Amino acid sequence: MEINAQILEIFGVYAFAARSALVLSLVAMAIYVLLNAGIFALPHMGLMAVGSYSATVLSLDAQLPFFVAVAGGTVAATLCGLILAAVLGRLNGIYLAIATIAFSEAVSAAVLNIPLTGAAQGRVGIPRSTTDLAIVGSVVLVLALLIAIRRSRLGLSIVAIREDALMAGHQGINVFAYRIGLMSLAGFLCGLAGALNVHLAGFVEPGFFNFGLLAHTLANVVMGGMVYVGGALLGTILMSTLSQAVTVVGEYQGIVNGVIIITVVAFAPFGLIGVVSDFLRQRKRSRGQVLGGQSNAPNNAAIKFDRLSRKNKTNESHETVIDLSDISMHFGGIVALHSVSLTCSSGELLGVIGPNGSGKTTLLNVISGAYKPTGGSGALQGQEIKSFFGSPYLMSRAGIARTFQTIRLIDDLSVRDNVTIGLNSTSGKNSFQSNGTLNQLSRVDEVERVLQEHGLAHIADMYAGELSYGLRRRVEIARAVASRPKLLLLDEPTAGMDPQEREDVFARISSLLSQGMGIIVVEHDVAMMSQYCDRLVVLDFGLVIASGDPDIVLQQESVISAYVGGQGAGKR
Ligand code: ADP
Ligand code: MG
Repeated sequence: MEINAQILEIFGVYAFAARSALVLSLVAMAIYVLLNAGIFALPHMGLMAVGSYSATVLSLDAQLPFFVAVAGGTVAATLCGLILAAVLGRLNGIYLAIATIAFSEAVSAAVLNIPLTGAAQGRVGIPRSTTDLAIVGSVVLVLALLIAIRRSRLGLSIVAIREDALMAGHQGINVFAYRIGLMSLAGFLCGLAGALNVHLAGFVEPGFFNFGLLAHTLANVVMGGMVYVGGALLGTILMSTLSQAVTVVGEYQGIVNGVIIITVVAFAPFGLIGVVSDFLRQRKRSRGQVLGGQSNAPNNAAIKFDRLSRKNKTNESHETVIDLSDISMHFGGIVALHSVSLTCSSGELLGVIGPNGSGKTTLLNVISGAYKPTGGSGALQGQEIKSFFGSPYLMSRAGIARTFQTIRLIDDLSVRDNVTIGLNSTSGKNSFQSNGTLNQLSRVDEVERVLQEHGLAHIADMYAGELSYGLRRRVEIARAVASRPKLLLLDEPTAGMDPQEREDVFARISSLLSQGMGIIVVEHDVAMMSQYCDRLVVLDFGLVIASGDPDIVLQQESVISAYVGGQGAGKR
């Protein structure tokens, strides 16, 4: 009898520890939700406290049933996450981390001063209504939700935001909205965990939501792999098993947590799952090598194309795509652009040239929404775009796409996924002629169409990071035009390429022009630009010093002297 009782007691202790660990795995998943999106925020203890105390008050004071109390706690924390994101969502990195930890501290302090929370003593006598089914059900449902998000295009956009938020914006992804959504989701998960936890323990006390618990949960996530859906759960299960099985670990949990965080971050930043997936990828990569080698040659024989041969084919009645007037851009005392006005028509290749530092990249940054100009206005196909200035995702959705001076692909994603990210800029009315609404299927078709059109179908499953420079540039252009923009901006698309690769790029440009896109290209090579471009705009110290037919422009005194005074024509 006595032995039986002892066994039961020991089992009871383990069972309680296991239940707590599972409940806390929800907090671990909330940490994953933010870290995976590159949001370095740690509001989790505060959010969990909000969920815990709200549920407690609903249970004890309002006498509401378990499910209602849990739902209430969850909603309260979700709202809290939402407000926090709205207030802090534009902060980044260390500032966001500090501000969100301060939020948790503020919640702790508030708890001590609100009578309903029971202050320092906390509250006891909460019905222990949290069943195993409620715990396991919550964990499974949340996991399923997170997996579904990861697998959807939302998941791809989240990875894009994590890897390169600016690039993501230029693909039509509303980074701020995502941050608000994800912080609310973190609030939801922490609130759920808190509400379940108080109904599991039967009491709540302010000391519970301390930095030690945060560090412990963080250690779980880091150990499992912080950018993997399963990482949080795996880490939690491993760590709690470890601390139960090896008593020493339990006793020195704080030290163990610290050592784990430091070691994993230093040597295997993506945790256990990261180590395994790296290994698998390495094997796949060594098999993929041959393919990569073959695909370096452009796969459609480059169409010979230049300005003069194109002129004969096209009629001149093209509508104006972009019309910029008096754009100025000042950086403190530096005037990067001074009252720049230009237009580009559908099917027209407009070249922007000028010495280094003359404002070419700045101009593209203004048009694509990366910078808000100090003055000036613009119109895209007659529509005012001034209100989109400074907002890459709005410009992108309006129909302005771009590539970057240094290629900005996500190396750890496949070519297909990289291209898919470009489909975010679809505004619905803008492209996909047939029907305005898009279902998942037509998106998939659309991606395959783009891959095919750009000669990328055979390497669609390769990682962008393992491609040659020329192919990477091709992928970047494919991503930019995936959603069929009206205007494409190319910043030195052929820099560092051999002649073969250059021809490939211009062949692609030619086919986009024939589809009616307007294209503005920035390059250093004046000879090449005059060969291909319909018109040139020459910048010098942020001023347009000449524009028009390339042959005429390059004869102008001011242009020659700008180049002689600067870098010298035709050179970098
Ligand atoms: P280009 O692309 O023609 O070589 P840029 O547009 O990059 O020239 O730069 C034009 C001028 O604006 C340079 O003097 C550069 O230092 C300045 N500039 C560009 N971007 C910034 C920035 N973000 N902050 C401050 N100065 C900038
Ligand atoms: Mg530049």
